[in-house]
Amino acid sequence: MTIRTRFAPSPTGYLHVGGARTALFSWLYARKHGGAFILRIEDTDLERSTAESVNAILEGMTWLGLEYDEGPFFQTHRFDRYKEVIQNLLKEGNAYHCYCSKERLDVLRAEQMARKEKPRYDGHCRHWGAEPPPGVTPVVRFKNPLDGAVVVEDMIHGRVVFQNCELDDLIIARSDGSPTYNFTVVVDDMDMRVTHVIRGDDHLNNTPRQINMLAALGATPPVYAHVPMILGHDGSRLSKRHGAVSVMQYREDGFLPEALLNYLVRLGWSHGDKEIFSIEEMIEMFDINDVHSSAAAFNPEKLLWLNQHYIKSSDPEHIAHHLSWHLGRLGIDPASGPDLHEVIKVQRERAKTLSEMAANSVFFYRDFEIYDEKAAAKHLKAESLPVLQALRDALFGLADWVPATIHGVVHQVAEAHGLNLGKLAQPLRVVVTGRDVSPPIDQTLALLGRDRTLKRLDRGLKYFHEKEGVPASAISSPKAGRESKS
Ligand code: GLU
Repeated sequence: MTIRTRFAPSPTGYLHVGGARTALFSWLYARKHGGAFILRIEDTDLERSTAESVNAILEGMTWLGLEYDEGPFFQTHRFDRYKEVIQNLLKEGNAYHCYCSKERLDVLRAEQMARKEKPRYDGHCRHWGAEPPPGVTPVVRFKNPLDGAVVVEDMIHGRVVFQNCELDDLIIARSDGSPTYNFTVVVDDMDMRVTHVIRGDDHLNNTPRQINMLAALGATPPVYAHVPMILGHDGSRLSKRHGAVSVMQYREDGFLPEALLNYLVRLGWSHGDKEIFSIEEMIEMFDINDVHSSAAAFNPEKLLWLNQHYIKSSDPEHIAHHLSWHLGRLGIDPASGPDLHEVIKVQRERAKTLSEMAANSVFFYRDFEIYDEKAAAKHLKAESLPVLQALRDALFGLADWVPATIHGVVHQVAEAHGLNLGKLAQPLRVVVTGRDVSPPIDQTLALLGRDRTLKRLDRGLKYFHEKEGVPASAISSPKAGRESKS
């Protein structure tokens, strides 16, 4: 048997981390067993479904790398098929028209509630033999078996038994003919030959009804795995209150997709004490049967730790692909400065997210407007002026613009002025980067290039003149007439 799984989101919002986890589990199951993974968009709720949400889901799936083998299929494109199946069910006596008025159903419900019974349809029209009442457009109800039980052998929850006497006759088509949610799922899972349904456990109660309908249609029900929900730190269902829940928000916040996937796979599942899983390892080791049946709590710190791990250890080429996107958002063209791979190598140890890394790397590509106020107040003091001027001149004459030679010059100049390296490096850093945090100064200057470095030093010297009122004549002017090599 070829394994076929599906992810079936309703496009009523963004792709949230709970959905992404369900999608990941379905995807892993298909990949592990050499099966097919299907994407189905459950957009029959016309009022709540939006095109933006469809795009957000597709974008999220692409960013996560959860590529689907079939689809996306849209339920709104399948209305004719649903109508056909409803007609067959009616013809075969497995469904019936229900003419009950809203008033009747309201009274029924109120009576049941008063008796402390679960409100359910009483089957009034199940055996309707009379002429249809005039002027009433009926709904269609599925004839649920009256007795016996439905046994769900859930891969996560184990055996769950539902008594048919607890279930009522579900509406499968509204009076305007439109099919209802539980019914479209059944037709699609049957037509798409889905063998394993992995979905949120908020759907567990729908499962016996769906199994009954599949049986009436002569289809073999799939195997089910109902994934527990994700909780926030306070034990309530994960929501926006707890921070980001949209997958694309994680992208914007500077997470790598593999960090999020790694985090999600470990949420409610473990493999010994292993924490880091490459995609290949996830495919090999993940077993849906071992997912815990209780809800798992979301831990943003752990996700951040994983992100940092992947930023430190992934191939710079891979990081460059994602970092370019973040730089693009800041209006930076990575071609306008140093090789991004080299920037990543010097920045990766000091950033927890790619958005942080991008923000910390802007100075390599674009001149900054102003110095960070605090950094300038602390480090740009009059006494640094002569040493920065001397350094500017020494750097101007430097033959090879590489970290080792730059390091030598900075040392030499600091020593000549009786300063320790830090006393020179900090003002220098503020002058060339605008702030007092950057990779080691020699590497920073090497990557920044000679032209940009000298220009910024000149600008820094001008700043001193203006700030301290030092006449420009008191400072040796930058040597002119020499081509700078960077
Ligand atoms: N469309 C449903 C949802 O987004 C999922 C239904 C299913 O997986 O069977 O919750």
